[in-house]
Amino acid sequence: MRKIAIVGGGQAGLSLALALLDEGYEVSVVTNRTPDDIRAGRVMSSQCMFDAALQIERDLGLNHWEKDCPPVEGIGLTVPHPEEQGAKLIDWSARLDRYAQSVDYRVKMPVWMQEVEQRGKLVIEEVGVAELEKLAEDNDLVILAAGKGEVVRLFERDAPRSAFHKPMRALALTYVKGLEPVPDYSRVAFNLIPGVGEYFVFPSLTTTGPCDIMVFEGVPGGPMDCWGDVKTPQAHLAQSKRILDTYLPWEAARARHLDLTDPNGILAGTFAPTVRKPVLTLPSGKLVLGLGDAVVVHDPITGQGSNSAAKACRVYLEAIVHRSDQPFSREWMEQTFEQYWDYARWVVSWTNSLLCPPPPHILKLLGTAGQCPPLASAIANGFDHPPALFPWWQDAQACEKFVSSNLSAMAMATA
Ligand SMILES: Cc1cc2nc3c(=O)[nH]c(=O)nc-3n(C[C@H](O)[C@H](O)[C@H](O)COP(=O)(O)OP(=O)(O)OC[C@H]3O[C@@H](n4cnc5c(N)ncnc54)[C@H](O)[C@@H]3O)c2cc1C
Repeated sequence: MRKIAIVGGGQAGLSLALALLDEGYEVSVVTNRTPDDIRAGRVMSSQCMFDAALQIERDLGLNHWEKDCPPVEGIGLTVPHPEEQGAKLIDWSARLDRYAQSVDYRVKMPVWMQEVEQRGKLVIEEVGVAELEKLAEDNDLVILAAGKGEVVRLFERDAPRSAFHKPMRALALTYVKGLEPVPDYSRVAFNLIPGVGEYFVFPSLTTTGPCDIMVFEGVPGGPMDCWGDVKTPQAHLAQSKRILDTYLPWEAARARHLDLTDPNGILAGTFAPTVRKPVLTLPSGKLVLGLGDAVVVHDPITGQGSNSAAKACRVYLEAIVHRSDQPFSREWMEQTFEQYWDYARWVVSWTNSLLCPPPPHILKLLGTAGQCPPLASAIANGFDHPPALFPWWQDAQACEKFVSSNLSAMAMATA
């Protein structure tokens, strides 16, 4: 059987490895951290995954935590009133057609790694050019899925597809227990504070059981870009609460009795959303194909990276199986990536649009959704499949049409 090496034991690399093992390939995963390192380490993501991505995991038999993980049943959007302290300018929520879930990578990845170890080969090693050369020598195909690791910089930046040269948000995660639930149904409670940044929070499953994950997205240089001097986990928690007290009193009210899930339930950092060219030519002339964040890394504002990694895994899996015993040529690699890019480009456009001040049609859309549940539902369910948000998310005229057709349909239904 053909031999495939995957560098990177994360969402993308491990799900593809396990899927290929199911298909009978000889698979090695080479990654730089052991299952114990991950279990005992820092949180890495908020990893909220929507139904289409969860279905890919179900289809592959990888959804081991589905019964224990609290569901995320909806999306809510709140914008504070710019003049009236404590008041809301926009405030709505909508149910997702099917629930989302977030399983802490510290719970999920060690188990997937052990499954790879039992059914294939798991090697713990820091991979650079020399190791890639060796893997390319020994395998029919090498896939680099090393996330935001330094090694992915070997892929050339795709300038026309990359909108930004610098980080667009200062990011922080705080994993907590004791948050008051929202009424009616669980949700990603998304708060957009113009000029300051975004805060969203939702239920998850962590190493100690159910929890909530607070995600902070601060505009660089603004008041929510405030993690540099935070030195201890308790100071990180205090800073998280301070942001809520200052800007989002309704969220502060939910957060009176918060505690961290554990001292490693915090993260702060920045990175620039980037698209890279998918094929790396090694000094020997051998080729390496990129997968997941290694080639398309999104800002977490829309919670799409893990979802996209799952979707990329499915595209790559089908392309590999379909290739049968023909060589994994440069042309095949580029076509495989382009097939994924047909989906990912919409995710990139939508995510990047939220990192810039919203144009008038988006302000109108988000405001009108508060009076028009079908619009709110379309926006909320777009998280599961971002291409469905187009053309109206991007194009002012199409948006106008979409808003008025939803308003008329709603008026007819209530007449
Ligand atoms: C703050 C934050 C919040 C997020 N929230 C969400 C969310 O709610 N929903 C969502 O869908 N996405 C979210 N994401 C994005 C998501 O976490 C990533 O897109 C996803 O993990 C990408 O999977 P990957 O397998 O490509 O990379 P990773 O999961 O990062 O895995 C890469 C692996 O490669 C290994 N590695 C790195 N370098 C090397 C090397 N040189 N040699 C060997 N191994 C190496 C790493 O140790 C790691 O195991 C978030 C990201 C961040 C930063």
